[in-house]
Amino acid sequence: MSEAEPISFIADYPLRAHNTFGFDVRAQLACRIERDEQLLAAVRDPRAAGLPRLVLGGGSNIVLTRDFAGLVLLVALRGRRIAREDGDAWYVEAAAGENWHEFVAWTLAQGLPGLENLALIPGTVGAAPIQNIGAYGLEMAERFASLRAVELATGETVELDASACRFGYRDSVFKREGRDRFVITSVTFRLPKAWTPRAGYADVARELAARRHGDGNGSVDAAPSAQAIFDAVVGVRRAKLPDPLALGNAGSFFKNPLVDAAQFDALRQREPQVVSYAQPDGRVKLAAGWLIDRCGWKGRALGAAAVHDRQALVLVNRGGATGADVLALATAIQRDVAARFGVDLEPEPIFL
Ligand code: NAP
Repeated sequence: MSEAEPISFIADYPLRAHNTFGFDVRAQLACRIERDEQLLAAVRDPRAAGLPRLVLGGGSNIVLTRDFAGLVLLVALRGRRIAREDGDAWYVEAAAGENWHEFVAWTLAQGLPGLENLALIPGTVGAAPIQNIGAYGLEMAERFASLRAVELATGETVELDASACRFGYRDSVFKREGRDRFVITSVTFRLPKAWTPRAGYADVARELAARRHGDGNGSVDAAPSAQAIFDAVVGVRRAKLPDPLALGNAGSFFKNPLVDAAQFDALRQREPQVVSYAQPDGRVKLAAGWLIDRCGWKGRALGAAAVHDRQALVLVNRGGATGADVLALATAIQRDVAARFGVDLEPEPIFL
């Protein structure tokens, strides 16, 4: 790696445009990374010596509660390509700074289905494995082949497969032991040639049916195309979820809690309406949004931080909120849900 790679740092850098909550915090130092080589040059530069580091892609899964006394690496690595194919699948690689939704749209434009359920998720390609993004019955892990990352301590570029990434529900090694250790530079997805539509989620099924009837084309029983699912997901998300550019938010703020069968039975005795989904492992997933709504939080505010009025799982910045305001709101919700249902809600975003 070249030590001569030119690096420009910006001091006292505003992060408002780099976090989807739109919090007005600043970084002591920031650096835009457009080539892999610049990563090591930046962290090894004497001006950044000893500083804590924060990697930001789209800033869609982070709550910046204060100014950051350290170096922010703004990952702006670009590029996407069909890397290879075999008899069973296409392998598509994208650089970490690519916008996730544009990448998904691009794969479909290449005639490669498989990521359509994950349309319109905010953030970058590099952030997708950190969170193991998921929506409408598909998790990124199911389409993941491998990723490349730079290990900051050693300067080595490593290639990690799915088992090394230890994906779980909205979780990976990068939220745990790997946090601050690796910077993801590109991700390769495996898109099976034997594609089947996944259109079982109620909102998507409804939207597909409405569109078919609206067009007057095709029968309700015809299997939807990947493009039709993509369009339906975009339609549902636009109708239900706030656009971060209009109303700051970080998507779902809490994970859906999993409870064991005994706890679920006890809960259902008291709350027969509880929205739940049985899991293959015998546990039961509860819809966190329903729990929050049931506690009366949907649409309610605490200062400038509020619960979105169309989706209780999304916390929003109504203007001028701080990360501390959102944290206070989240804590109040967790307290009420625990008191009423005996269930702990775990936040999805990372906190600074
Ligand atoms: P929804 O359709 O109102 O459903 C509420 C919850 O019930 C969802 O969280 C979903 O769990 C679960 N669910 C619904 N139908 C299900 C089914 N057929 N089988 C199993 N579980 C089912 O959800 P929503 O809030 O509008 O979100 C729609 C999808 O987008 C969900 O998959 C959600 O996770 C995803 N999403 C993710 C984020 C994020 O920031 N991570 C933000 C917005 C939406 P799952 O969450 O496990 O799918």
